[in-house]
Amino acid sequence: MSTITENLNHLKANLPNNVCLVAVSKTKPNEAILEAYEAGQRIFGENKIQEMSDKYEALPKDIEWHMIGHVQRNKVKYMAPFVSLIHGVESLKLLIEINKQAKKNNRVISCLLQLFIADEETKFGLSEAEILEILNNEEFKSLNHIKIVGLMGMATFTEDKIHIEKEFSYLKAIFDKVKKQYNHLPNTDFNIISMGMSNDYKIAIACGSNMIRVGSTIFGERNYELK
Ligand SMILES: *Cc1c(COP(=O)(O)O)cnc(C)c1O
Repeated sequence: MSTITENLNHLKANLPNNVCLVAVSKTKPNEAILEAYEAGQRIFGENKIQEMSDKYEALPKDIEWHMIGHVQRNKVKYMAPFVSLIHGVESLKLLIEINKQAKKNNRVISCLLQLFIADEETKFGLSEAEILEILNNEEFKSLNHIKIVGLMGMATFTEDKIHIEKEFSYLKAIFDKVKKQYNHLPNTDFNIISMGMSNDYKIAIACGSNMIRVGSTIFGERNYELK
């Protein structure tokens, strides 16, 4: 058995049943994705629209593609025909564009709002107040080709487990709050808490995550990051 298959089986064997695994395949070749596919994995995460579209074209059509990166509005049209979940939505303007492109494709596209939970300036995301602002917005309520299915967040990159735990617990608390207040809207169905990566997914699950995004633990270290 080769490493990707081994890594994947090992990871899955230790995951609670309610936790969905997104295999983050950014920068990795199609052969690596196919190996994970042969081992039963069907959900893959990419952070560049062009790369994801190329992989979508080349690989089996029953793969579900998740966009986990920062999304530029002018590129939404390229993934609208096939993307199954957009994790990092952080503006109403972007939602309006996703809605427009989803409509053109006769689809309803599932999205997560990204909550900023880390210390680092470099990580994207909305504040709690900004999330509430979107959910209260009248135009938002009229977008019937998108569905907000949950929240996503990235913790600070640190060895300090207590610190990470605080950030993930904060996201879980905001999730519970917005679910309670806004789940009745026609374009919301809060059920996904996307948090946890290779270095912190165990903490994330302990804090209530039900969707983890794991790359290097499955595919090995990435030797470059696409800009
Ligand atoms: C790259 C990436 C991951 C996966 O990171 P690993 O440390 O390789 O598991 C998860 N989420 C996002 C948003 C990413 O960009």
